[in-house]
Amino acid sequence: MGDWKILLIAVRLPRSYDGPSPYMIKKTIIRDSIARFLAQIGLTSPVRRGRGKLSIATFHRVLPETQRQTYPFPGLAVTPEELDAFLTYLKQHFDCGSLSTQHTRYLSGETTSRPLLAITFDDAQYDNYSNARPVLARHGIKASFFVPVVAVERQELLWHDRFGFALRALLNQEQGGPAQLTDILSAAGMPTSDPYNLVGRVVQASKGLTLEARLRLVEQVAEAAGAAEAPAYARLMTFAELAELAADGHEIGSHSMTHCMMPECDDSALAYEIAESRRVLQDRLGLPIETFCYPNGNSDARTAQAVAQAGYRRAVTTAWGYNGQDSDRFRLRRFDMVSKHVQDAKGQFLPALLDFRMSGFYPGLDT
Ligand SMILES: [Zn+2]
Repeated sequence: MGDWKILLIAVRLPRSYDGPSPYMIKKTIIRDSIARFLAQIGLTSPVRRGRGKLSIATFHRVLPETQRQTYPFPGLAVTPEELDAFLTYLKQHFDCGSLSTQHTRYLSGETTSRPLLAITFDDAQYDNYSNARPVLARHGIKASFFVPVVAVERQELLWHDRFGFALRALLNQEQGGPAQLTDILSAAGMPTSDPYNLVGRVVQASKGLTLEARLRLVEQVAEAAGAAEAPAYARLMTFAELAELAADGHEIGSHSMTHCMMPECDDSALAYEIAESRRVLQDRLGLPIETFCYPNGNSDARTAQAVAQAGYRRAVTTAWGYNGQDSDRFRLRRFDMVSKHVQDAKGQFLPALLDFRMSGFYPGLDT
């Protein structure tokens, strides 16, 4: 399939803040036509491709359009209407549920009329409680929510959100904000050009810094941004809200203590992030915690082993794809659900595009 992928990557819609150019619209129309054609001949049929496999869908934030426009990483958010469209589609083709339920059913070899799929949400954002919960309830679907424990305990934003809001605030400051930001970023060896994409590029580049250097940079930018605070919608869920989700029948899993990248941790930090987060969640919620979700998707053999030793039953990465019976259950793959990847040239949800992406012909490069 290598050649297919090269051809299809070539027709991918690039990111842009200036609105699509006629050239890009043409590329999108070509992409949509290929997706429709492949769906028509059944080549990307999710039922055919997902049969005998376990699929896992990933969401992050669920924000109304007005809030998404103020969020520094709009690609990580779907609107409640878009979530509704995703769930309508997924329910039609898959047997949907939380990961603990679906993975257990899958491993037991249960035969189902539709392939099994789990719905997951990373980062325990409050919008999952306020905006995703009612949509899930309407569809009668249970999901899994992965919690970064310290951020929830302290009600602090995750570092990338804090960084993103501060970067944006400085960029928008009229009194020398952008110049001050350029100084800070160039001293840290970060990109400084391309203001339209700067926030995403800097956050991505900062993942290459050591943990200490990254947090120092976040601190510096947040300090320079001063009183500019993140909006109220950006907060994380509380333990009480998580308990309500659990009472609804949703699964709560661990997303580590500090949302740091696991392979960077030494053995004692790894034990803290993995085993301690499980202990705290079990204590606070009075529930068994069975699933671990690697922050940023980063894992290696050592971290997967630590997850297994801490008593979890499974762990999820951000690697793209289906899971088979022989897949490593401590490094399960997922499908990232991104609105712009499944919208046609007019911005409408196009099911054939989701078929196309889940088929693997049109690969998930944002993983
Ligand atoms: Zn995360």
